[in-house]
Amino acid sequence: MSTETSGKMLPARLPALLYHRVGPLADRSDASLSALPGKFERQVRWLVRRGYRGICPSDWHAWRKGEGSLPEKPVVLTFDDGYADLAVHALPVLARHGFGAAVFIVTSQIEGTNLWDQGAGRAAHRLMSAAEIRAWSARGIEFGSHTRTHRSLKGLPESELESEIAGSRRDLEAILDRPVRCFAYPYGDYDRAAVEWARREFDLAFSIEEGLNTRATDPWLMLRSQVIPDETRFDLFWRVHFGWSPLHHLRRKVGLRTRLREAMRLVLVRGS
Ligand SMILES: [Zn+2]
Repeated sequence: MSTETSGKMLPARLPALLYHRVGPLADRSDASLSALPGKFERQVRWLVRRGYRGICPSDWHAWRKGEGSLPEKPVVLTFDDGYADLAVHALPVLARHGFGAAVFIVTSQIEGTNLWDQGAGRAAHRLMSAAEIRAWSARGIEFGSHTRTHRSLKGLPESELESEIAGSRRDLEAILDRPVRCFAYPYGDYDRAAVEWARREFDLAFSIEEGLNTRATDPWLMLRSQVIPDETRFDLFWRVHFGWSPLHHLRRKVGLRTRLREAMRLVLVRGS
């Protein structure tokens, strides 16, 4: 097959990065889901300097079918939930560098807010409008579905899977007036029935399991590596090379150990 990657006899590997918001932190914003604009821009510039090119999910699908080529170092940046901040702080940065990307929309909340987070006391953030979705689709950003209501799909009956998966595709197609071919599972949750629906309705579906995608990766369980806002460029290096960051896992372990040690100390102090 003639692709830019096959010239080097390397199998194509596609790191997919997962972001949510890109914008300044508001009171009660979930800091783990909000990348600061300056930091995001530095991450994109870092990718550009290292020769990465941002592609859309449909580019990967076309390549798998033998209908298109890939850049030598492809990466797909994905943004779950469709925050309106993206149109201000993220998509213009990607457009400047000629990067494609994917934004996954919760179709009952277009121009609404992230209702599903607010129950947990988190801040409300505005989500993209139909006009913003259409404008950025025309500028090369691919829009996919992220269900109608952002529910976990695990254990849902067939009629609700139909509404959340097929229904959200129809909602988004009515806005874009073109086929919608990709999907992301809310919370990364799925079961066999949900994957079956995704397989019927879309070319690709993204999980939140980590790793690099290759030709062998199940297209309806694409792997993604979530970029945690406060981490370093070494984490990003690991994420694009290996699909996960051992530094992140190490920090979590150390954090857990510190908390356990502190809990033990309190127990001992109280017991003495
Ligand atoms: Zn989500």
